[in-house]
Order: sequence, then C-alpha cells, then structure tokens
Amino acid sequence: MSRGPRLVLLGKQGAGKGTQAARLAEHYDVAHLATGDLLRAAAAAGTRVGLEAKRFMDRGELAPDEIVFGVVEENVTGDHLDDGFVLDGFPRNDAQAAELERVLDGHPLDLVVNLDVSTDIVLDRIAGRRVCENCGATYHVKGPPKHDWTCDVCGGKVVHRSDDTEEAVRRRLELYDQETVPLIDFYRQLRKLEVVDGEGDGDEVFKRLATAIDSRLS
Ligand code: ADP
Repeated sequence: MSRGPRLVLLGKQGAGKGTQAARLAEHYDVAHLATGDLLRAAAAAGTRVGLEAKRFMDRGELAPDEIVFGVVEENVTGDHLDDGFVLDGFPRNDAQAAELERVLDGHPLDLVVNLDVSTDIVLDRIAGRRVCENCGATYHVKGPPKHDWTCDVCGGKVVHRSDDTEEAVRRRLELYDQETVPLIDFYRQLRKLEVVDGEGDGDEVFKRLATAIDSRLS
C-alpha cells in the first residue's frame, strides 16, 4: 500500500507503548502522536491548557476531555490522516473513542493493538522509569543513558516524571482498568483488535508488533 498504517496502541502505563510507538512510527515512516507527550510539551511551554492539564497529570488523573480533544484535534489532522500515524495514549475512554471517530473523518483505523503486559511487570518498570523531558525517550535506572542522565537521542535532560510516583501510578492503573479496558472489547467487536505480548526483550516485542501489523495490512 502506498500510505502508512493508521494505528492505535493501547496498553497499561509502563507497557512500553511510548517506546514501541516511536519505533513503529519510524519503521512505517508515519507520525508518532502521543497525547501524554503533547500535554507535557504544552505544560513545559507554560500554555494555559498545558498548566491546567499538569494539575491532573501529576495526580495520575486523566486530563479533562475538552483539553485532550483540543490537542487531538490539532494534531490528528491533515496529512497524518492520509499518510498514517501511530496514536499512543488516546483514546482512553468511550467518549474519547467516539471523538476519535469524528476526528478521523471517514479515514478508518487499520488496527488497534493492545500491548499486553502483567501488572507486576509494569509496576517494576515504572518505579525505575526515567524520561527525557525534551523528546520523551524512556530509560530505566537499570538501563540509563550513556552519559550522566543526558538523553542518547537528543541530548535533553533525563528525569523522573512527576507523575511516576507510586500513588499516581496506582491511580492511573485503576483508571486504565475502569475506563480503557472496555475499549479492548469495543475494538474487538469491530474486528480491529490484535493483542500482542509486550513482555520480554524490546526488540522481540517490536518484531511481534510489526508481524501482527503487517499480517493485518497485507
Ligand atoms: P501513562 O500512559 O504512563 O499514563 P502518558 O504519557 O501516556 O503516560 O500520559 C501521562 C498523563 O497525561 C496521563 O496520566 C493523563 O493525565 C494525561 N493524558 C494522556 N493522554 C490522555 C488522554 N487520552 N486523556 C486524558 N488524559 C490523558
């Protein structure tokens, strides 16, 4: 096919969505649209919307729909609809799934992938997770960047995210179960869903993802 795929990645916090979404976007030469990164960038830039979102993010709550919808409407648009994208972090509830349909404006999703990882593993990953505040690349205390918490990819500062506290993470996982898990069934009924095992080596997980996606698209 001449265009790239239109993909949504679902998965618990710490399932590896961000890392794998970036790799998939590069592999298929499409945009990586991560609502968490977009909201953090807005907060870092000090915009009204960004600062408002940060109040929710730091507590592990979902940002209000009207804020997230604005970010999605600005970014899931134009060329991305035609050329393809990997959407990471959206939708997270029924209302967001309905909004996505509206924003897609007749450009159907090719596939929704649920990146499946057990809760024990994600808790361990998030406790040690560190992220680049500039480009969003993720590291772990057991796998830090090469030089003194400076991002290998862009040279930005690698930090402990303000919402990666145990309390906020527990709340995000609870919300994931309540609000996002129902979307797995929703997309399964639409025959858009693939479940991919997200445990184990990152390269292996990437190969599983690409295989699942390619077999859907061929
Ligand atoms: P995680 O998946 O670990 O929660 P993200 O970077 O995807 O990390 O998101 C961080 C925070 O940004 C979320 O906890 C939430 O507050 C906010 N956020 C991101 N995407 C959405 C969304 N679709 N709806 C509401 N809030 C969102």
